[in-house]
Amino acid sequence: LYVEHPLGAGQTVPLNRDQAHYLFGVMRMGAGDPLLLFNGQDGEWLCTVAHAGKRGGELLCQEQTKPLQMPPDLWLIFAPIKKARTDFIVEKAAEMGAAQIMPVQTEFTNSDRIRQDRLQAHALEAAEQCGGTYVPVVHNLQKLDRLLSDWPQDRQLMFCDEAEVGSAKRLGAATGDKWAILIGPEGGFSPKERTRLHAHPQAHVVALGPRILRADTAAVAAMTVWQQMLGD
Ligand code: SAM
Repeated sequence: LYVEHPLGAGQTVPLNRDQAHYLFGVMRMGAGDPLLLFNGQDGEWLCTVAHAGKRGGELLCQEQTKPLQMPPDLWLIFAPIKKARTDFIVEKAAEMGAAQIMPVQTEFTNSDRIRQDRLQAHALEAAEQCGGTYVPVVHNLQKLDRLLSDWPQDRQLMFCDEAEVGSAKRLGAATGDKWAILIGPEGGFSPKERTRLHAHPQAHVVALGPRILRADTAAVAAMTVWQQMLGD
């Protein structure tokens, strides 16, 4: 369970009404029962129910079961698509270890706003479900142009483009670098965006097989390529 409260040996954690309802009403937990907590900073802790009430409760931290595992600082940058599929991309990014999730507006992106709070809740839920100890940060929608203009020197960009099938350029960059993945919208990247990205010194064009993938499929495929690269 995710809590916004420090975790540490002997630390007591107060529960609000919703958390008490979920643990004691829905999950039928009671005094002494064990559960795992994380807060995104202190790792994962085994705790026990110290007090179970209708309108609140209290947990007691017993021991740390996992240290904080910071993911390897991947940025997943994607153009929002249909709501359900955007939710899917955010969930998979959280499960596969993205640290920052950045929705961007490109020329052919057909939605000009996103619900950042809702997407952040999805990322949190995915982190809870997959036993993560870190919650990826979901950013507000920003323009791709802007992001590229202030691109950090120490970060390589995996530019996923189906137009590049069979492209000779493979990921040649040192895998020790920090990485970002860029996935386009349903309509793909515009010619102007492609020209700009090809010219970008830290962008590496990547083809993800010979077929045109849906953006959500491409996001998962690209993160798999990235994980392989890290693993090497
Ligand atoms: N522009 C394409 C079209 O309309 O024919 C579709 C774009 S695709 C649905 C969305 C995004 O997924 C692309 O912008 C690209 O980032 C990524 N993508 C899809 N298939 C890919 C592939 N085979 N290789 C690399 N990236 C791919």
